[in-house]
Amino acid sequence: MILLDDVTLTYPDGDARLTAVDHATLEARPGVVTGLTGASGSGKSSLLAIAAALVRPDAGRVVIDGTDATCLSRADATALRRERIGIVFQQPQLLPALTAREQLCAMAELGGRHRRTRRPAIRARVDELLDAVGLAEHANRRPAQLSGGQRQRVAIARALVHEPRVLLVDEPTSALDRARGAAIMALIARLTHERRTATLLVTHDLVHSDSLDETFIVTDGRVTAGALVGGSGGRNEP
Ligand code: ADP
Ligand code: MG
Repeated sequence: MILLDDVTLTYPDGDARLTAVDHATLEARPGVVTGLTGASGSGKSSLLAIAAALVRPDAGRVVIDGTDATCLSRADATALRRERIGIVFQQPQLLPALTAREQLCAMAELGGRHRRTRRPAIRARVDELLDAVGLAEHANRRPAQLSGGQRQRVAIARALVHEPRVLLVDEPTSALDRARGAAIMALIARLTHERRTATLLVTHDLVHSDSLDETFIVTDGRVTAGALVGGSGGRNEP
């Protein structure tokens, strides 16, 4: 679960401060895709950065998978991300020299719960994930040999390799055409429901709203609950 409670974040702006997030409260529950929508510059990426414990808010409380992350040290925030948070950025940010399988293995060996796992077990988990994102046939390809949509699938699989409880996704379809974007959104929804991650997903593109279970609207840093959209909102209630 992700809880942002009355969170405010400002950035320096000349002699003044710019308020990027303004007393925002939101919750993202396990097994649910929670969408954040709003105009460019409204504060969506800043909210994700707070939910990832990448930046500390000026005020308010941040709880990530039961851990109060409001005042963590840099080292503790890094450890929390490594163990419990998966992040998918707008651009997949893959390492050019590594194959799809190697991108995931490298991440698995970096740390988290799989740090002491034996290589064959890591390999089996990586191959299961590549299969889950539809890339079993392309495991040995490098980023340059993959399409934009396939690269984004690698990034999604890589974000899940350490079995995070929380998945944070920033505009995953912005570099894709509509059909490929819809396929990526449907994939994220399926993985969220199957693996029960608390998924917080930023999108400014409401054509993909059927893959969202719940939405919040961000306007000038303020967050309001959106109308329930398509998707399977409520389906995951116990
Ligand atoms: P969105 O993701 O909705 O486009 P952002 O969270 O990136 O919005 O930005 C919200 C506001 O904060 C914008 O006015 C942006 O210019 C400003 N901003 C974002 N990041 C920084 C930063 N690192 N330093 C200063 N201002 C920033
Ligand atoms: Mg953004």
